[in-house]
Amino acid sequence: MKSVFVFLPVIFVPFVLSISAAEMKTVDDFREAAVKANAVLTIPDWEQTPEAVEAMMKSAIAKANKALDEIGAQDLKKVTFKGTVVALDDLVYEANIAANKATIIKETNTDEKMRTAGENAVKVFQDWAVGIDYREDVYRAIKAFADTHPKLSGEDEKLLRETIRDYRRAGLSLYPEARKAVEDLRKQLAKLGTDFDTNIVNAKGPVVFTKAELDGVPDSFLASPGIKTGDDAYTVMANVTWQYRTVMENARSEATRKKLYVARYLLAKDTNVAVLNQMLALRNKIALRLGYKSWDDFQTEVKMAKSGAGAKKYISDLIVGIQPKFAAEVMELQKMKAADTHDPKAKIDHWDWRYYDNQLIKQKFAVDKEALRNFFPFQRVLQGMFDIYQGIFGLKFYQITPPQKWIADLQLYVVTDSATGEPLGLFYLDMFPREGKFNHFAEFEILGGKLLADGKYQRPTVALLCNFPPPSADQPSLMTHTDVETLFHEFGHALHSIVTRAKYGRFAGTHVPGDFVEAPSQMLQNWVWDKQVLDTFAADYRDPSKKIPAETIQKMNDAKLATAGVFYRRQFAFASIDLALHDVHPEDKPYDCVAMSNPILQRVFLPIDPNTTFVTYFGHLNGYDAGYYGYAWADAIAADMATVFEKAKGKYLDREAGLRLRHEIYEQGDSRDVALSIEKFLGRKQSIQPFLKNLGIGAQEKQTRPGEPSHPVH
Ligand SMILES: [Zn+2]
Repeated sequence: MKSVFVFLPVIFVPFVLSISAAEMKTVDDFREAAVKANAVLTIPDWEQTPEAVEAMMKSAIAKANKALDEIGAQDLKKVTFKGTVVALDDLVYEANIAANKATIIKETNTDEKMRTAGENAVKVFQDWAVGIDYREDVYRAIKAFADTHPKLSGEDEKLLRETIRDYRRAGLSLYPEARKAVEDLRKQLAKLGTDFDTNIVNAKGPVVFTKAELDGVPDSFLASPGIKTGDDAYTVMANVTWQYRTVMENARSEATRKKLYVARYLLAKDTNVAVLNQMLALRNKIALRLGYKSWDDFQTEVKMAKSGAGAKKYISDLIVGIQPKFAAEVMELQKMKAADTHDPKAKIDHWDWRYYDNQLIKQKFAVDKEALRNFFPFQRVLQGMFDIYQGIFGLKFYQITPPQKWIADLQLYVVTDSATGEPLGLFYLDMFPREGKFNHFAEFEILGGKLLADGKYQRPTVALLCNFPPPSADQPSLMTHTDVETLFHEFGHALHSIVTRAKYGRFAGTHVPGDFVEAPSQMLQNWVWDKQVLDTFAADYRDPSKKIPAETIQKMNDAKLATAGVFYRRQFAFASIDLALHDVHPEDKPYDCVAMSNPILQRVFLPIDPNTTFVTYFGHLNGYDAGYYGYAWADAIAADMATVFEKAKGKYLDREAGLRLRHEIYEQGDSRDVALSIEKFLGRKQSIQPFLKNLGIGAQEKQTRPGEPSHPVH
């Protein structure tokens, strides 16, 4: 999760615009090159009234329904590839554009009525989209085509296979009664999922402390609104994450930390134990009805992991692999606690790690994060990132005038191939917070890539919606190091979308398996921890001859590494719990989610209080169910992929490695198995060793440990 900015009423004046508006190109300047490349560049028309937004969605759905009717009404003896699966991809692609536009309006429009219209249109779309899977007539036509056993290959073959697979996953291949049963189970599950989320949102955990009990907690926290609730009474809400973290990271008293931890880990116990047990039973039932052994097999079938066992093996390999680093870190924390408590046997429990991690960082690796911001003025960072990405990926970005703007400082760019001039797509930048705007950082696809029926290629148009610190009257926008990392990450997604060459919408750009989509961007985060890269753009805005000192960068890297073992073992514990809850389970055996999860949390991470119920407040279990492993999975792949750059002559600025990423990963999307794309990019099989090596765990040390599992992923 990214931090949320509060709206600051600042009038924005763009600082350094590299070119004046008069010199700026327009999209028409790229038309000729587009024609030559058989490409289509599109700047969407933006609806201007709530009625227009509603009408846009209405007509998009009507058009899609008509196309669905046409597929369904065919003579089953004359079905063709184009008339079935491709037609389905076409209509979904077109309908998605309307949904994407409505989403952008919802997230960016300065008029609340427009945002509401966007939100309503998205809802209408979502309700409609669920029904596509259940169009029997469409399924029959596609099935009839599949039954002709057509000789297809590559992306075409994948399109047919995965379309049929999705119908099977929706229950369409079952007999009507069985399908109805699955639909009913799904509806019950959806309702329980909503209850689970609501119970989490509604769970409150007020814990009252005296000032003495909060010794070590910053005064600024104690003075925050709502905290002081009596003469010597301070109420900390265990459910408010920033309050919880501040106290857990700073309270010297173990009793205080334990009390707050217990309150947090009991949240939603009364309500969600029962709800979660029912959800797990329903998921298991659905999986079994659809012919899977378990819910994790069902969920991972469409991911890189391919099976629950595949995900479990990966995580358990990582748990074993990281053990030496984790043990060393806990030992270090233990020493600190022993010194603190004068008890040489003191052990690190679940309620201790945040406090001692924080002490460790403060004592050994303190970096003044505020002072660091002087090196990251927004416009310079943006230009620096542009230069790097243009260089390594063989691209050129041209700022053009947007025909329609939703804010004054909206920027629009055309991306071309630097060698051929071929236009590849467009991106919008909407970078600063304002009231009512989307409050995180993300890349949004507006038009995806797709080969059109007339043989031309629709190039993508995307938007980056961010919330960097706005500039003020006397200083430019100064980014934190985390902001800079976020920009490099999100812009990676934009490039993944833009340079795509996939034929079908469902495979283009970032439409890749959920446990892979973050990996390339997570890899690019490495760039901003590297002195060579930072020195290309980071400089004190008051005196650009000043670069970030090498010791500072080293300290930042050391700090990150110092607590990585604990960080990841906690992640692996969550992933293991999630997979264990969704593993094979006899249908008639009731679930006990707490008894199934607490021992794992304790075994993989740190000792817990046995009365706590971590899972009742683990929101990822609805939405990321049997998917939490994906975070660590993508991190390990990211580290693996980074080695291609690290071994290249130009390191992170190496164009050959960059072009390989562009061609083998970004351009391919999901048009071929991503595991194959990764192997082609790496030039070898995948390995978790680079991930472990980054954590200071050498290959040699590993080989000497018995029972070490092999690492390549399926
Ligand atoms: Zn991302």
